[in-house]
Amino acid sequence: MGLWIYLDGKFVNEKQAKISVFDHGLLYGDGVFEGLRTYSGKIFRLDEHIERLYKSAKAILLEIPVSKEEMAQIIKKTIKKNKLKDSYVRVVVTRGKGDLGLDPRKCPQPSVFVIASKIKLYPEEYYQKGLSVVTIATRRNLTESLNPAIKSLNYLNNILAKIEATNAGAMEGLFLNNDGYVAECTGENIFIISGNFLYTPPISAGALDGITRDTVLQIGKTVGLSVSEKLLTRYDLYNADECFLTGTAAEIIPVTLIDGRIIGSGKSGSLTCKIREEFHKIVLEEGVPIY
Ligand code: PMP
Repeated sequence: MGLWIYLDGKFVNEKQAKISVFDHGLLYGDGVFEGLRTYSGKIFRLDEHIERLYKSAKAILLEIPVSKEEMAQIIKKTIKKNKLKDSYVRVVVTRGKGDLGLDPRKCPQPSVFVIASKIKLYPEEYYQKGLSVVTIATRRNLTESLNPAIKSLNYLNNILAKIEATNAGAMEGLFLNNDGYVAECTGENIFIISGNFLYTPPISAGALDGITRDTVLQIGKTVGLSVSEKLLTRYDLYNADECFLTGTAAEIIPVTLIDGRIIGSGKSGSLTCKIREEFHKIVLEEGVPIY
């Protein structure tokens, strides 16, 4: 039967969910997106994801044709229509149909679509044994060029990084920014634990303002760690007691090898496990009910 997709005001079967070849989202990666999760019939951090979507859109001068309240309803309805309780939801706003030139003013009607489905980024075993990460040669987009805070449809910087990591035989790629400081991984934020400190790079280092990142910064405090956003070098990572990545799809996943250096004990660290447990509690306790 296939999934029901929300597309510009209607629900259509996935086979009928089509976008024009003249859509600038496709021609130029001109658009924005979000990825959300639902747990046991509740949407985690719905308002935060919607806020970020509208901020990304504002940054590229794209007017989303529905209000934030309507967007929240559209997301809920799409999940309901597909009778999902635990799901991954992709919200996309494209610049819309235009001509073959770049000018976004030639695209009068942005397109909105929402896919509610499932996602599995890493096999379960990696949540125990941890990921291997390599530093990649491709640098994170310059903030002054294409700000990594914008969750745009142009993810080639990240895809090039993913290809490099895969070619090097690693599960993930570590992005440095143009100054050589740690930015983030291809689709996740990065954290380290050193002694009693929980560190993550500031957004200005070239990271997305991750919603899981934000939740983990809060959890860090509740489990008694001193939390701080700090510029990090690879040296800091290699010598950390624990390291993990955060993202809506990946949740919290340990990193146990970076550029051939074993991190901490070489297994998921005890504090990482504790933060993961707390995270799983929070996603079930908090969230906007769908049903
Ligand atoms: N960095 C990048 C580049 C991302 O695309 C994402 C989202 N997958 C993240 C970090 C994590 O953000 P969030 O926790 O909001 O999913």
